[in-house]
Formats: sequence, structure tokens, C-alpha cells
Amino acid sequence: TQSTRPQRLLSAVQKNATRGDPRSVVQAIDQFCRHKEWAMNVGDEKGCILDSVVSEINPATVLELGTYCGYSTVRIASLLPPHAKLITLEFNPNYASIARQVIAWAGLEDKVQLVEGASGDWIPKMKEQFGVKTFDLVFLDHWKDRYLPDTKLIEECGLLTKGSVLLADNVICPGTPDYLEYIRSSPQYESQYFKSHLEYTKVEDGLEKSVFLG
Ligand code: SAM
Ligand code: MG
Repeated sequence: TQSTRPQRLLSAVQKNATRGDPRSVVQAIDQFCRHKEWAMNVGDEKGCILDSVVSEINPATVLELGTYCGYSTVRIASLLPPHAKLITLEFNPNYASIARQVIAWAGLEDKVQLVEGASGDWIPKMKEQFGVKTFDLVFLDHWKDRYLPDTKLIEECGLLTKGSVLLADNVICPGTPDYLEYIRSSPQYESQYFKSHLEYTKVEDGLEKSVFLG
């Protein structure tokens, strides 16, 4: 029978990664995507930048937009302090099902709440449904035309506080020009570009880190 790429990625994790060891899960996915099939994970090179931002902020609350197979979810969750919580949103049920299994293989299901549905529907419900006050870190990595409207929605819903950080992937490739223009020109943010490469390639891409000044 035919399998999908996310299913093959999960099989590579089950074959090559140690249960309960997030690093080995990350490594198994990177190995699979570098040598077998490219996939849209943030990847190892930008992943190191993501790790350093997470470690620097040491967030108690994280929102991730776009879970896919749970690669970045595992990277982020494995670095969180005890009692911290990561909510990750994914609207494709097939991807969500794979991600749940990848996150469980890494032993991180207690730290992660994977929510199925569209960001535009869930962001306004964060406070009432999940008891979140504000997010210390938001990782934007869903469809690129949603970065700007969802950022404005997150602001309107009062989900940011002074010092909250937005970290946006793929700001160069495929690119998010309207988001970059907004975040770099707004006096409400202090914004910085981290140059890198598109996952598993040599094409320029990078992450934009934007601190909300309140
Ligand atoms: N962050 C993941 C990683 O690095 O491992 C990769 C995420 S992938 C680039 C983008 C994902 O966002 C896809 O799985 C897609 O189905 C999901 N997505 C896109 N738009 C969305 C939306 N508005 N709400 C929820 N999920 C969305
Ligand atoms: Mg990405």
C-alpha cells in the first residue's frame, strides 16, 4: 500500500530514534530529510538558532503555529523548563496524527498540547480554552500569508506582553514580505534577522526575531 511522506518520516523515527530521547528523534528526522526525502521542518541549521532563542527566553508559555510532523515541537519542548507549556496548532489531521506519535516517541506529550484546527479560529479562544494569559514565545511557521493577519490577531487578543518574542521562520524563502515590512517598521517591536539557509539546502533563508516592547 502507498504511504505518505509523514508516515515514512515517522517510520524512520521509530526505527532509528530512542524512545524518550528527543535529541535522537531530531537526529533521525534530519537524517531522513537530508538523505532520503526533503520535508518542510525548520531543520538542523535554523533549528540551532531556534534552540538558542528558546534557551535565552526560557519561556513558560509557547505558541507554535504549524506543527507538521512535530520536528520543531520536539526541539522547543525538549528545552522548556519544568511546568512550561507549548501549544502547537495544526489544521491538517493527517499531519497532526503523525506529530502526536513523534512527540510521544520523544517522551514530550506532557509538555505539549497539540490542537487541531486553523490558527484564525483558535487564537481568539486561547484565553478561555487553555487558560493562557500571554505567550512568552510565538513560533510562526505555518502558511506564509497567515503570519501578518495572525500576528495582528494575537495582538488584538491581548496574547503578548512586554518582552514576548515572535520568532518567524522562512522570512526569505518562501518569504513573508508583508510580515517583515510590518514587524520591522512597527515601533512596538525590536526586530532582528538571523541569516541561515532553507532547511536541508544551501538556499538563503532565515529567522526574524521580534521582541514586543508593549
Ligand atoms: N514547524 C514545523 C517544523 O519546523 O517541524 C513545520 C511546519 S510546516 C512548514 C507548516 C504547517 O502549518 C503545515 O503542516 C500546515 O498544514 C500547517 N498550517 C498552515 N496554515 C495553518 C493554519 N492557518 N492553521 C493551522 N495550521 C496551519
Ligand atoms: Mg519553516
